[in-house]
Amino acid sequence: MKEPLFGKTLTALQEIVLAEGLPRYSAGQIAQWLYQKKVRTIDEMTNLSKTNREKLKKKYSTGLHEALSMQESADGTKKYLFPVASGHFIETAYIPEKNRHTLCISTQVGCKMGCLFCMTGKQGFHGQLSTGEILNQVVSVPENEQLTNIVYMGMGEPLDNPEAVLKSIDILTAPWGFAFSPRRITVSTIGILPAMKDFLEKSQAHLAVSLHSPFDEERAYLMPMQKKYPISRVIDFVKKYDWHGQRRISFEYILFKGLNDTPAHVKELARLLNGLKCRINLIRYHAIPGVSLHSPSVHEVEQFSERLKAKGLISTIRRSRGQDIAAACGLLSTKERERKG
Ligand code: SF4
Repeated sequence: MKEPLFGKTLTALQEIVLAEGLPRYSAGQIAQWLYQKKVRTIDEMTNLSKTNREKLKKKYSTGLHEALSMQESADGTKKYLFPVASGHFIETAYIPEKNRHTLCISTQVGCKMGCLFCMTGKQGFHGQLSTGEILNQVVSVPENEQLTNIVYMGMGEPLDNPEAVLKSIDILTAPWGFAFSPRRITVSTIGILPAMKDFLEKSQAHLAVSLHSPFDEERAYLMPMQKKYPISRVIDFVKKYDWHGQRRISFEYILFKGLNDTPAHVKELARLLNGLKCRINLIRYHAIPGVSLHSPSVHEVEQFSERLKAKGLISTIRRSRGQDIAAACGLLSTKERERKG
């Protein structure tokens, strides 16, 4: 199989062109074709000589993949299915709003983290995505020119694939890459501390931590990784980080009826987050088969939000999108397709 050029950094492209006997500046030209002009074949890189294109084509391809299928929700959300090199599939959600066009991208096939409420977690882990496979989602959706925001909140735990994720952010934000603002990129994590540190040091993108419960035992029931990375340690760590400039930290909080939606939770959240400038995004749980967790009503979510605000916390309610096509938070899964495939 030919090696993909798409997903390579400028330095890696320089190494390739020099090894192939092309001038060093060809690396910049290739990066421009791939990330700015968004061509899909080496033949389209017309400022490289025909001989040099032929030379490259012997060992390399762009490595881009079209979506295999698309489902569209009644609310305009679209869910794309992409193949990856390992023979598996991943899902990507495009969420259009009035002034915002968000792409929710995947970083792994399935996930190791096993969160109780998540369909991707139920699927188990089937492999890491390469940098090229992460970014392929960005260029291969038909809406790629309209995207205003990219969120790493699809299948997988992004910071469990830190090398490919960091490289993808580098390519997205570099002037020789997509030149996309890091202020429009958010990476979500359940709180993998060593990778979080690296991410904060090496990128300028926003961070979203999945909180879901301020109580250790309850959070461990929902998210087994709590045992390795307790939320109190994660919050201590982000409190010490200097949140200068426009970089933001937010917390995702899925509300489960009768479990994590009580006044005691509000009180403990206020204590834990005291002194940290942050936002809590409330998400109404979407029921999944075989899990005895329940969705609160819209009113209950609003009530919880009001209680947080009364404690001085900034809280927003994330409107559920694409629920009818299983594109909403926690519903992405390619389990069925893999079994058939
Ligand atoms: Fe993995 Fe995120 Fe699902 Fe947890 S919620 S199992 S980290 S994809």
